[in-house]
Amino acid sequence: MTADAGVKLHELDRIYGDANKAAEIRRQYLERITGARLENIGKTALDFNALVGRNIENPIGAVQVPLGVAGPLLVRGDYASGYYYIPLATTEGALVASVNRGAKLVTESGGARVKVLRDGMTRAPLFKLPSVADAVEFVEWTLRNFEEIKRAAESTTRFGKLREIQPFIVGCYVWLRFVFTTGDAMGMNMVTIATDAAVRYVQEKYPEAKLVALSGNVCVDKKPNAINFILGRGKTVVAEAVVRRDSLGRLGVTPEGVHSVNVGKNLLGSALAHSYGFNAHFANIIAAIFIATGQDVAQVVESSMGITVTEPRDEGLYISVFLPSLEVGTVGGGTSLPTQREALELLGVAGPGSPPGVNALKLAEIVAAAVLAGELNLLVALARNELAQAHIKFARARGGSG
Ligand code: NAP
Repeated sequence: MTADAGVKLHELDRIYGDANKAAEIRRQYLERITGARLENIGKTALDFNALVGRNIENPIGAVQVPLGVAGPLLVRGDYASGYYYIPLATTEGALVASVNRGAKLVTESGGARVKVLRDGMTRAPLFKLPSVADAVEFVEWTLRNFEEIKRAAESTTRFGKLREIQPFIVGCYVWLRFVFTTGDAMGMNMVTIATDAAVRYVQEKYPEAKLVALSGNVCVDKKPNAINFILGRGKTVVAEAVVRRDSLGRLGVTPEGVHSVNVGKNLLGSALAHSYGFNAHFANIIAAIFIATGQDVAQVVESSMGITVTEPRDEGLYISVFLPSLEVGTVGGGTSLPTQREALELLGVAGPGSPPGVNALKLAEIVAAAVLAGELNLLVALARNELAQAHIKFARARGGSG
């Protein structure tokens, strides 16, 4: 049977009873009707029988992204402790080299100290009431009945724990921002299911509150926003190091010179642009690690918000990175795909931790330390005015386009 015999593409898994065969038939069909050759898309280590219904619909193959490592990077966190090789999946020449040089500077200066300041995945359902007075009463009722609402939410999961409800009122609308710890999962499905159960309980007990949407966009998932920056979402993490003056000197820069770039670019330039990224390139490192380790790549939007702090000191350059909304997990989503799982194994964080949650916290610390390394190196490169040269050297080494 072929896909053009009046059969819908998404029905092929069921018809063949084999998602790998269905993927091949879809590919052949698309090749035939478009004239495109999909030979390389068909070469993959993935078993679609394990993925359809969980990670993908209508699969036709896989896209490969080159994977490099930067390191060793010395991380001194509460969960991650030791030397790590950071897996970075990217097509941007110079990125791995950049993080690698930053990792060397951080490591020879004693490593990155890392702290997770907050931990909480959020979902914010939106309710409508007749008036603002009713809205205020509803919020008061919600907070008074926190324990019952928590019980309803947690009945859906072994790992999700409701920590708090952050209420917001605008006119007669109420958003209840539910904050959960989610063990080793990034937690977006988990908290959506748990919030749905909580909302059902609320609606039963408080029918005047009409649900408008289970997600009311105050969560905030996959959109640039201020609330995650201020209240946090996922892991709120800080990584810091004091980079030795002589290490910087070897590269021809001083702590004062690098600090001056940070103030002018990351603080003043970002203020002028009203950017949520008071940093040089958190997103580069976050995206590359997210792709490598099976995170939800769309969450790079808020995960890469943050601030870089620098200060010249006698011994060298104090540098820290603040990531208020880093959304990572070691179970769920794409983390169990074969290559992504191997990348997590490289960091010693594949699968569930013992006790639950420690693997995700460890991963968050490693990511923050890698961001610190990448950020440091780009500031050094700018202080040396070598940014364009680095890209010519690494990205156009084989006569690239342009
Ligand atoms: P998930 O795979 O949906 O949930 C995690 C599962 O792992 C749960 O069944 C959990 O058990 C189980 N688990 C086993 N050991 C665990 C441990 N140590 N810690 C935590 N959980 C453990 O993953 P998720 O992180 O909640 O959701 C991630 C997925 O959501 C991604 O695919 C992402 O793309 C997607 N996503 C969904 C939404 C949405 O609105 N639904 C939005 C954005 C992204 P329990 O069943 O007992 O909890």
